[in-house]
Amino acid sequence: MTGPQDHLAVARAALDADRPDVALRLAWQATMPAVLHQDDEALGRAVDFAEEVAARSTGSAREKALQNAAYWAACVTSPRAGQGSAWSFRRWFSRPPRQERIPCPECAESIVKDARVCRFCGHRLD
Ligand SMILES: [Zn+2]
Repeated sequence: MTGPQDHLAVARAALDADRPDVALRLAWQATMPAVLHQDDEALGRAVDFAEEVAARSTGSAREKALQNAAYWAACVTSPRAGQGSAWSFRRWFSRPPRQERIPCPECAESIVKDARVCRFCGHRLD
């Protein structure tokens, strides 16, 4: 009953019941084995499902659904050899921090804190 074909059945039922947050949580749990075993077919169905959730919801649920879709899609295309899914996890959770920004004293556009020349007006910062 809980074969790979219907690993999203419970999540789909939650979505049909208008509970996108619950649907995403259940889909996440249900897809975890596919992530760990690099089951591309199951991951592909999870991406489709997350996009369906996104299309049918708004606000934070929609954002989370799109994040899930992007994450699972990244798992599909990641190399199978070697570290496998661990590599995907590292890549997803170790994105570089955003560079700190300051307003340019001349034109007030937001520029990188360590910039030496404003890219908008050419003002030199010493
Ligand atoms: Zn400037």
